[in-house]
Amino acid sequence: MKSNVLPLQSGIIYGPVNSKRLGRSLGINLLSTTKKICSFNCIYCHYGITHELTCTPAINELPSIEEINREVKLALSIYKNIDYLTFSGNGEPMIYPFFEKVVKNIKQLRDELLPKVPIALLSNSSCLTQDLFLSALRLIDIRVFKLDTADEELFKKINRPCPGLHLVDIINALVKLSRKLPIIIQTIFIDGEVNNYSPEVLEKWCKVIKEINPLEVQIYSTDRPVAEKGIVMLDNEKLKELAVFISRQTKIKTIPYFAQTIR
Ligand code: SF4
Repeated sequence: MKSNVLPLQSGIIYGPVNSKRLGRSLGINLLSTTKKICSFNCIYCHYGITHELTCTPAINELPSIEEINREVKLALSIYKNIDYLTFSGNGEPMIYPFFEKVVKNIKQLRDELLPKVPIALLSNSSCLTQDLFLSALRLIDIRVFKLDTADEELFKKINRPCPGLHLVDIINALVKLSRKLPIIIQTIFIDGEVNNYSPEVLEKWCKVIKEINPLEVQIYSTDRPVAEKGIVMLDNEKLKELAVFISRQTKIKTIPYFAQTIR
């Protein structure tokens, strides 16, 4: 990993961070603090390259359910002034082997200690193909899922998923899920050696967004150092233009988040 990318979060709890999308957000990291474990290895990831590309990490590399409970309980008794409690962190939160159990526990702690604070999930959508998570997702207040492209080849170039993950399955799962629960789609647009906003690619993606029919679409570009060369961020004007285009095409509220403003 290059030294200019962000260091991994060093614990289960991090922040609160000031997030344009979520306000004062207290992060929950369910993954390793010593190596990046994720089901994707996105070319724009601000944590650098994925050291372990997997959808099924071993529990002995991750914090235990008890440790997570203890840390979250402590944090909720310290940080009273937060807007969101957010599952995010050093990789895809839903690959944690006992994700459902953890969500149930944290919802219970939240209900007891900070009942007005909503729970958010920032996910790369890769686990939705497993059809296992509906009861956990129902307990989460804001569900944000990544979809950077609707093109399988581009998906492999941008998100570089672990073997066995196919974009078509992820899209089908997002369509199915959004018929049951309200979801938000988030997309990172990038330029450079790989770009995901050419007219044909965008048209295909807009069609899929219409089919998913999320509550809203959040778009942004990378504004931090990334490990890969040749990634160029989109400027704010281009993002604004894209947001207008996407809302017109899809009739779905599309919000651009500009450099230095997102977490
Ligand atoms: S899904 Fe998120 S954490 Fe995983 S590689 Fe992509 S940007 Fe990084």
